[in-house]
Amino acid sequence: MLSNSKGLIDCHTHTSFSIDSTANIREMIDRAVALGLRAFSVTDHCECNRWYGKEYYDNPTTYLYFNFGQNFEDSVAEVTRLKEEYDGQIELICGVELGQAHQERDIAQKVVEDPRVDFIIGSVHQLRGEEDFALIDYTGYTKETVYALLTRYFAEVLELCRWGKFDILGHLTYTLRYMEGNAGIQVDMRKYDDIIDEILKTVIAAGKGIEINTSGLRQAYGDTFPSERYVRRYRELGGEILSLGSDSHVVADVGRGIREGAEIARRAGFRYVTYFKEHTPVFIPLPE
Ligand SMILES: [Zn+2]
Ligand SMILES: [Zn+2]
Repeated sequence: MLSNSKGLIDCHTHTSFSIDSTANIREMIDRAVALGLRAFSVTDHCECNRWYGKEYYDNPTTYLYFNFGQNFEDSVAEVTRLKEEYDGQIELICGVELGQAHQERDIAQKVVEDPRVDFIIGSVHQLRGEEDFALIDYTGYTKETVYALLTRYFAEVLELCRWGKFDILGHLTYTLRYMEGNAGIQVDMRKYDDIIDEILKTVIAAGKGIEINTSGLRQAYGDTFPSERYVRRYRELGGEILSLGSDSHVVADVGRGIREGAEIARRAGFRYVTYFKEHTPVFIPLPE
């Protein structure tokens, strides 16, 4: 049993450069330093399908937020400055959580080619023609409508993985945070075993990784994204690159659940976790 997160990594965090966070970036990094983390990635949101301002889009009513291109620029410029300032204190990684890269590949390519970016989390937050999963009103949703949404979610995640220019796949299964955790609609996830296998095999074949996103542990859902079952499956299929991220949007959540995530990784057969610098994996041994 690990007693804390010292020497570990938190590779998925948001600051006030993300639309859904007001956290001061220096306070976030200072917290990571205080926890003794080995590496810390700032990964502010960049939703490729809303890169431009509202006026750019033909049918903007599907979306609530816009202008992620500006958020991306502001976050990456600031983290790049702070990397120098924090040199020697912690390995500060300039990351981005890239949403819907498969839907807007030219935009995604700009981010992929930006030399300041060390690390890309590839996420699906929004299906084509639908609002962000976090913003959907699930009132009146039945198991059937939820299954239909999940089927489309995993199909788009697979499409994202076939695009494959991220470093790790973000929070696989996180839609359950809203469907099961918040709306209380229980789903039988075994229906998706085949497509999840395909997703994991595609990630592995591309030499990419997945994360254990620990945010669900502190939310109503009560488990990681993905849960241990899928981390084990990823290992069985030959997966070696595994990241850990709190998905914190506030200072107090930095490093939260990382110790538990490391224990899941160990139980699933991993001896290392991974962070990325200049898109190159760095393997950190898990403490005994
Ligand atoms: Zn996300
Ligand atoms: Zn996130």
